[in-house]
Amino acid sequence: MVMLQSAGEDRIPLSIEVRLGVFFVFLFLVAIILDPKPVILPPAEEVAFPLSSKEIIRGDTSKMNVIFTFDGGSKDISSRKILKVLEKNNMKTTFFLTGDFVLTYPEVVREMKNAGHEIYNHTENHPYLTQATDREILLELDGMDRALRGTIDQSSKPYFRPPYGDRNDRVLKIAYGAGYQSVGWTVDALDWQESEGRTVDEVRSIILNSLAPGNIYLLHLGDSISGDLLEELINETEKRGYKIVSLKQGL
Ligand SMILES: [Zn+2]
Repeated sequence: MVMLQSAGEDRIPLSIEVRLGVFFVFLFLVAIILDPKPVILPPAEEVAFPLSSKEIIRGDTSKMNVIFTFDGGSKDISSRKILKVLEKNNMKTTFFLTGDFVLTYPEVVREMKNAGHEIYNHTENHPYLTQATDREILLELDGMDRALRGTIDQSSKPYFRPPYGDRNDRVLKIAYGAGYQSVGWTVDALDWQESEGRTVDEVRSIILNSLAPGNIYLLHLGDSISGDLLEELINETEKRGYKIVSLKQGL
């Protein structure tokens, strides 16, 4: 707004209103160009530990640890047996539960919490997440989280396991935006195929023949194989120099 006065040329000085107007338009344009994003910190309880939109399929491979994880979908067969064996061996493990499971077996879930085990999100109703809409994915995660909070006053964050391992980039990103990192597995022990004829011997072989540092094993609460085998698996893995740890301990 510098007024140049040159001889023989009469300029009309800009009024104060016009100058102010130009100034505010200028400020507005600067604001648009810089587009400052407000920094909103999540509530303290939501800040877990380093989270990523990348899926975890293996723990720390520099240690002789293996991570056993147990999924609870709609029915419970082995929980009590597993909890007993874990207590006897002074061991912590990791459960991925559906909201459905939590509401159907609240006493078991309380026992898991009281024994110090980790409980994470396996969605509310166990759907195929790649076929769900963005909103449905969020509702599934939130539904389970609400069930857990209502039962043991504890959040299911920051980990979730997609049912059937059915996930893609979209699912992982939406879950990440909601505060969850996906946890897959290194080895599927196939205990869930019990009703199709999978035997205890086969599951034992799958696990013991695949042992490697950092491996995450997928096991289930809805069949009897995992409960029947656990004690023996603990002994055998220890004999081979491995320690069975929880997800947090093994990452
Ligand atoms: Zn499942």
